This record gives sequence, C-alpha cells and structure tokens, in this order.
Amino acid sequence: MRVDLHLHTTASDGAWTPQAVVQGAVDGRLDVIAITDHDTMAGYEPAAAAAEKLPIQIIRGIEVSSTHEGQDVHILGYFVDPESPVLIAHCERAGNRRVERMQEMVAKLVEGGLEVTYDDVLKAAGPDHVSIGRPHLARALVELGHVSTVSSAFNSLIGDNHAAFVPTHLASPVEAVGVIIEAGGVPIWAHPPGWLVDELLPGLVGAGLGGLEVYRPSHRKHDVVRYETICRTGGLLMSGGSDWHTPFAGASLGDFHVEASEIEPLLSEGGF
Ligand code: AMP
Ligand code: FE
Ligand code: FE
Ligand code: ZN
Repeated sequence: MRVDLHLHTTASDGAWTPQAVVQGAVDGRLDVIAITDHDTMAGYEPAAAAAEKLPIQIIRGIEVSSTHEGQDVHILGYFVDPESPVLIAHCERAGNRRVERMQEMVAKLVEGGLEVTYDDVLKAAGPDHVSIGRPHLARALVELGHVSTVSSAFNSLIGDNHAAFVPTHLASPVEAVGVIIEAGGVPIWAHPPGWLVDELLPGLVGAGLGGLEVYRPSHRKHDVVRYETICRTGGLLMSGGSDWHTPFAGASLGDFHVEASEIEPLLSEGGF
C-alpha cells in the first residue's frame, strides 16, 4: 500500500481543494493519505466525502504550529478527535492570530518599501482558506511582481530569519504536543530540523510526542538513518509524507510515497 501522511489543501496553504487533492492522490496511485493542514481540520470532511466512491482512505490530521526561540516547529497530529474542545480552541485562536501576524508581516514589508496590502494576501489565499499563511503572502508578492517565484519570496523577504518574518507565536512545541494528546491524537514531529532534535526531543517525548516524520522527499539518506535510529532506540513511531502544497517543478502526488509496512505501527494506532 502506497501512503502519504502529509498533504495540504486550500483550507490552509495548499493550492488544490480537498477534492482535487483526493483525485490527484488517486491518480498518483496512493492508497492512504492524511490531510494535514496548518492549524485547521476544515479540509478533512470534504476530502472524506470526495473519497467515498474512490479507492482511497483518508486519515484526519492537522499540522499544529508552534514557535521555539523565533523558529517554526510543526507538530503533526493524526487520528485527532474533531470535537475536542482543546483542539477547536487552538484552531480558533490560530485563525485569529494568523490574521494578526500576517498583517504584521505586511506592515514590515511596507516599511521596507514594498507596496502590498493584506487584501492582496487574502486574494492570493482564495475563498476556501481557513488558515492564512506565508505561502499566500509569497504568492501575492509574485502576483504583484515584487519577486519572480514563491521560493525567492522566502529566500529574500519572508523566510525564517528574514526581515519581514514574524513567528506565529501560537504555542511552544511542548504545548503543541499537548493539544494533540488532549485531542486523542498521535503527535509526530514534522520535518524535524536537524539542529533542534537533540535539544527539543527529550522535552517533547516527555510531553507525549509519539514519533518523528522520518521519510520526506527532502530528507537525505543520512537524515533518514539518523531519525530511524532515534525512533528505534527511543521506541518512537515513524511517519512519512511529501508535505505536498502545490504542483511544483512538475512533481505530482504519488511521486513520493511510503510503503504502509514502513510505518505500520503508526497506521495501526488509527486502525489502518
Ligand atoms: P507559516 O505557517 O505561515 O509560517 O508558513 C509556513 C509554510 O511556509 C510551510 O508550511 C511551507 O508551506 C512554507 N515555507 C516555509 N519555508 C519555505 C521556503 N523556504 N520555501 C517555500 N515555502 C516555504
Ligand atoms: Fe505549509
Ligand atoms: Fe510544516
Ligand atoms: Zn506541512
């Protein structure tokens, strides 16, 4: 079985609707996918409805944003209870904070001499978004002709450590793990930054972290080996996903996948 446990839709910063993601995943011969939008679960129901008559299973997921010393740390939550008051409260707060933070980022760009408005970002985000994020701002900057690509927007203006970056400051990584545990989900550290793992892992495991996202298109062989070793020695679950947002450089859904057998203990936590 071909699996991808990290996908974004137009509910957050993905370019495709949940329905289009499901159809794209079927076309890419994926058997199981997780919808993991940033700080919202709004993409799951439409995805699950679209999947009803298709040969694919959908896992309910979320990618919870947190900040550690000004840097983004993302915690994936799988099999979360959508009715969890703690998770619902997180998503509501995130929606508001992300608007405020985006307005702060726009103000910084304007101070730096660029002409851009929050409405430009809203337009780039489209009507379906619940959670606004930097890729929407990046697309607006491309649209306005300030940069030529989304990547160059990140590399010159809005990436972590660049002048106009404002952290989400929604939670600490330990709190993000706690939200997912409260919601009955399995917390998995998304794209763990190599330089932060040793520092943050003990605290996160203490808070209930279930595992690491080991398999990703951008992970080099030595990252994979390192994370597999950490998981095996620490009794942690392994996950894998493409973190797909948009058709980029010709990459389609299904070009990357993990075999269900590689991440079986995680899948079985959700009865898959
Ligand atoms: P936010 O949650 O609003 O801070 O946005 C984070 C998102 O920005 C990530 O999930 C990626 O989709 C995107 N992102 C972060 N860094 C880069 C980068 N260097 N190039 C392209 N996209 C990026
Ligand atoms: Fe994203
Ligand atoms: Fe992420
Ligand atoms: Zn992601």
